[in-house]
Amino acid sequence: MKIYQEKIQNLKIEVILQDNDSDIKIIENNILICNIVLNLLDRFLTNIRYTSNPEYLKKYFPDSFLQNIQSKNFDSEPTLSIIIGNKREAVQNPLYLSSNGWSIYLSRKKPCSWKIFAKNPLSAIYIAALGVGEVFKLLVEDYVSVEIINDFIYDFITHGKTNQPVTNPLLPSYLDINLILVGCGAIGQAIAFALDQFELRGKITLIDPDIIDESNKQRYLLAFNENIGRSKTQFLSRYLMDNKNNLLTVLEFIQPYEISITIYESLFKMENVFISVDNKRTRVNLQAALPRRIWNIWTDTAQGILRYGIGKHDFANENQCLACAYYPEGDIPNQMELNAAILGISQEEINERLQRNDLITKSDLEHLMNNYTIPPDQITRVKSLEGQPFSNIFHGECGIYNVRLLEKHEPTPATHISVLAGVYSVIQFILTKMGIENGHLVESVAEFNAFAYPNEDCLIKKKRHPKCVCNDPIYQVVYKNKWGL
Ligand SMILES: [Zn+2]
Repeated sequence: MKIYQEKIQNLKIEVILQDNDSDIKIIENNILICNIVLNLLDRFLTNIRYTSNPEYLKKYFPDSFLQNIQSKNFDSEPTLSIIIGNKREAVQNPLYLSSNGWSIYLSRKKPCSWKIFAKNPLSAIYIAALGVGEVFKLLVEDYVSVEIINDFIYDFITHGKTNQPVTNPLLPSYLDINLILVGCGAIGQAIAFALDQFELRGKITLIDPDIIDESNKQRYLLAFNENIGRSKTQFLSRYLMDNKNNLLTVLEFIQPYEISITIYESLFKMENVFISVDNKRTRVNLQAALPRRIWNIWTDTAQGILRYGIGKHDFANENQCLACAYYPEGDIPNQMELNAAILGISQEEINERLQRNDLITKSDLEHLMNNYTIPPDQITRVKSLEGQPFSNIFHGECGIYNVRLLEKHEPTPATHISVLAGVYSVIQFILTKMGIENGHLVESVAEFNAFAYPNEDCLIKKKRHPKCVCNDPIYQVVYKNKWGL
């Protein structure tokens, strides 16, 4: 990621918020777009110019947000001017962003001319993150293949196939929900932010054992200096329990999902679960509890690619369940094979060292540290294992080391894809709840390339894995009985 540093220094982005529209709802919509654009740009850019009313930047985020933006001001000619509003601006390189109803508008040529306005904060959040993606493309276009077009018009119901803007169905004035969020990280925060644009009633359960740390500031929509060190779960809980959501109950679990479900039996009756965790095992474990419906939300930032997606998993239909989606290629490894992978040595060597009752060495632990992310609260524990007899901590079926390991992540400055993924899942959740007459919603999986633009072909049906438990008639009967289907 160091190669981008020089490019980042040279990139100067101006954000122009037009607040002279006669319709107050349009101004409110544009203020939301502007806040998300600046929030995400601030996570990776050093030169940002915002000259509109500073009061608008106090509406959604804490005080340090406005200060950050003001500290990045520059005088010279901007590389790109992001214009939020429906009037033309005399600038060198404009990027006009608008949203209206379920439709979004992006153009490098002219402002949006749609007249009748329907309020919809979800499409506003999406177009803001998509606009930030256009800035991100400028940083990487020399190294990877990116698609950059002058005009992009899209809606979440007909995928750009009917007259724009698409304003029906109108959004409800409040949302009645009973949701579980497994994972309160970058995607979980984006989901919570999108949901919080409504008055929320009902119940939301939050599950995440981690705390917000310094590194999260790069990607988390709601991570600011003010909340470093706080539990991710408790932070989101306080965030949602604002004055607007008087009829909302929030349950917090600061343990991993697998432990939470053992201490709170009601978690076996999950109707709608949003899962965005950083490991495959928890996803498979979640499916094993047979929730009514799982929304799986993910981002993928491997070398040279930038993807995000959502899956809607109903278990009883012919599409893949969540376990299918993460079904291991080849045979499922046994515990000894898993142990060998964790230690980075062969199974034979493990057996020999067990027989000799070898001691755990520094290099055993280094392999662990280099290949997995160890939660901060467990690092001391892991270090204390050095010099202990091998067999003392080899727990056979329970796995080796007996510590929580998270799959290692590459750091990425791609701040916007978690927001795109999170808000897209909320859009699908709400549209599914309301029902639509003409259009195409996600039935199985949607996969997006963030270096290109979303389209209807991103919605795909994926069949079950032939070896997965969802093909087992007994599981199917249990699922159907559980939910009265
Ligand atoms: Zn399956």
